[in-house]
Amino acid sequence: MNKLIQNAVAAVAVALMLASSAIAEGITPAAFQSVVDEAYAKYKGLNEGSNADYIPILAETPSDLFGVVIVTREGAIYSAGDVDYKFAIESVSKPFTAALVMKQQGPNAIREKIGLESTGLPFNSKLSLEIHKARSVNPLVNAGAIATVSMVDAKSEKDRWNQVLANISDFAGTKLTVLEDVYDSEYENVWGNRGIANLLYDYKRLYSEPEEALRVYTRQCSIGVNALDLGVMGATLANQGVNPITGKRVMPAKDVPGLLAIMATAGFYDQSGEWLYSAGLPAKTGVGGGIVAVVPGRFAIAAFSPRLNAAGNSIRSLSAIRYISGKLGVGLFGPNPDE
Ligand code: GLN
Repeated sequence: MNKLIQNAVAAVAVALMLASSAIAEGITPAAFQSVVDEAYAKYKGLNEGSNADYIPILAETPSDLFGVVIVTREGAIYSAGDVDYKFAIESVSKPFTAALVMKQQGPNAIREKIGLESTGLPFNSKLSLEIHKARSVNPLVNAGAIATVSMVDAKSEKDRWNQVLANISDFAGTKLTVLEDVYDSEYENVWGNRGIANLLYDYKRLYSEPEEALRVYTRQCSIGVNALDLGVMGATLANQGVNPITGKRVMPAKDVPGLLAIMATAGFYDQSGEWLYSAGLPAKTGVGGGIVAVVPGRFAIAAFSPRLNAAGNSIRSLSAIRYISGKLGVGLFGPNPDE
């Protein structure tokens, strides 16, 4: 056989392997694309909810934007709608900085110093009935996320920020930048989070100077991403910590299951139970309108649309991702109980 034919045979073999691995998982490329198109078409007209406005500039994002994307662990991309529009990552950033701290200090540092519980109250708590919003910390609520930023091993505020940005950029496989107008708007109105940071410091649960942690946390939340970036970040988790586009290992494979467990229990705040019940996937939302969900070992589903429900979760994004999870039958616990 001459070299040319050999190469052609090898290429066909690789193509067959790739096709059969997609089919072995039961989902063909055409099926991926059509479920994304269906989810987009089905929820494009859903106009419930409203943009976040406690960060004034977020109210100015055009509310009708909507994008849906699937990124597989092999790096295949299926998308519909506004997947290139850059919006503020907000709380979708939180698990990724937790991953950085897990890598630097081991998963137990998060477990011991931040916590893993979504309510932190005992099974027979009467208090939980009275103060629904009171939670102890996990790395995905604001208190835990600010504390997580303070735990990054850093020599200075600049070093802390550079590490946070570089880490999230590595997950996205592209050099991300801050939306400075979002940062200014959020930092001018950051009184609640400043209160949290100061209390944590007083309770010895913050590991840097509070205003430094607050500034780096707020910058982290102001990083600009599009839906596709979120999809690649999620696909990196689906791919055991290796970015499928750049091939770079971003976190140790052994830390991924723990991080996904935290996302499953707390990624949707006080709607996390409802989300896990109906969509069956670990996920993280942000008040910018982005959500990323992970089908462990397989692919990520990400979506963006600015209108939020009362828990601060994008209504179109969560609807589209839940639909795709149900339609592809990838919910971790079986079919969606509502269907
Ligand atoms: N930066 C926002 C805040 O701290 C993040 C909230 C969110 O996305 N849920 O309030």
